[in-house]
Amino acid sequence: MRVAVGQVWQETNTLNPCPTTREDFELFGVSRGAEMVSKMAHTNELGGFIQSLRQWPETPEIVGLARLPAWPGGLITRDAYEWIADEMASALDRALPVDGVLLALHGAMAADGYPDVEGSILHRFRERIGNTVPLVITLDLHANITPQMAAAVDAMVLYHCMPHVDIQETGVRATGVLERVTNKGARPVTAYQRVPVVLPAERANTEAENGFAVRRKQRLQELERMPEVISAGVSVVQPWMDIPDLSSTVVVVTDNDETLAVELCRELSSELWDTRREYLGELESIEAAVQKAANCTEGLTVLGDAADATTSGAPGDSVWILQELLKYDWPNLAVVTVVAPDVVEQASLQGIGSQLHVELGGRRDTRFGTTVSLDVEVQHLFDAEFALSGHIGTNMPISMGKSALLAINNIRIIATTRTGPHFAPELFQTAGIDPFSAAVIVAKSPCGFRAVYTSRAHQIISVRAPGCAPSDFWTYPFEQIPRPLWPWDEMEHWSPQPQLFVSGISRS
Ligand SMILES: [Zn+2]
Repeated sequence: MRVAVGQVWQETNTLNPCPTTREDFELFGVSRGAEMVSKMAHTNELGGFIQSLRQWPETPEIVGLARLPAWPGGLITRDAYEWIADEMASALDRALPVDGVLLALHGAMAADGYPDVEGSILHRFRERIGNTVPLVITLDLHANITPQMAAAVDAMVLYHCMPHVDIQETGVRATGVLERVTNKGARPVTAYQRVPVVLPAERANTEAENGFAVRRKQRLQELERMPEVISAGVSVVQPWMDIPDLSSTVVVVTDNDETLAVELCRELSSELWDTRREYLGELESIEAAVQKAANCTEGLTVLGDAADATTSGAPGDSVWILQELLKYDWPNLAVVTVVAPDVVEQASLQGIGSQLHVELGGRRDTRFGTTVSLDVEVQHLFDAEFALSGHIGTNMPISMGKSALLAINNIRIIATTRTGPHFAPELFQTAGIDPFSAAVIVAKSPCGFRAVYTSRAHQIISVRAPGCAPSDFWTYPFEQIPRPLWPWDEMEHWSPQPQLFVSGISRS
């Protein structure tokens, strides 16, 4: 038996004015074929696929297609899309014939002229493998799952956790689903429901002690333990995509039990609709949040800057919070990260110990950003390269390029050449800073940063700043989204009517 595995990964934020190019994918780390299988054997979903396939009683031949990832960012260029689609299709052509396909996708990729990147790629895959070779995919729980995607696959398996600490495990679950189909005769049918809500992430923490998100995760896990259920997922979509086909989605896949799939899909959809208001959290103004950090005389304050969350595809060069931090005299370190290739270049030319006059911010986020001018000392020059584990990654290689640590009084600014996980302790540590002993860390992330900081921080404050990934996104200009859509529009009644997708295997 031959199973093809591959990955296409990026989360698109159309508010970010910086396009995502082919170079962004190439710099992040493309791999192909057998090299991909050996390199990714312990990383993220691909690691989950590969490790699980190796444990099947009759080990299949694992055929590596390609891994094409880029860090979350702006709209993908048409060139980059065409390159991705051709790369994946030709890798599959070379791999055929295969007995099954496992693809790790994000599910919220949009390109110039192609608002449904994954749908298009999956359609091309289905055309090539025919209707009776199973195609199982994994998706982020911020996917925008379109009918085109649902029609092209046999089963979708979603992350259950936010922060995304179950990425590798999702790959393991998907491989189990494929095994049920190829080796145990399962016949997948999918109930699919678009739910007209778009929701902020701050309060969606499934790893908290309790709350609606925790209860939902537990329910999904409970459903997936039922023998008739193949997979169950609720995707609260990535909000910052101004595209015509945007909504949250519920999918329930059963083993040939259409009635049960529809019933469970209806239950989960109604629950998502009914809990929509619980997602709206309290945010502090920049001034109040920084004041609270200054009032705190012990331990670490983490300021969550969702609006410039690089994990949400924002540009990462916001200095709105830095501007406020500069007004205070900090007894211990206050640390901010900024994507600023020009400043890194300037620092590299002048060298460690030099004094620089720099302008930070407003270069990448030209829509909502601001600029600060200040004199800093270059304290350290380094390459921001590390393996990310925790939210978003399991042994995930990260390369953010040449970087500089800049100092002004007790404020430290980590300037990087490229975007990446601008919340990760590994980034701060690579810069020579222990984030857990700082007074203040600005984490450019709405919720995922909580996975690592909740137990270590004295306080965590979600800040309302301007930016490309704001929590109050419905107050920003969106032009293409479908209406009515909550919370842009109040809707008195809504009730689910799931749609069924019967896979080719089940029809044959
Ligand atoms: Zn996500």
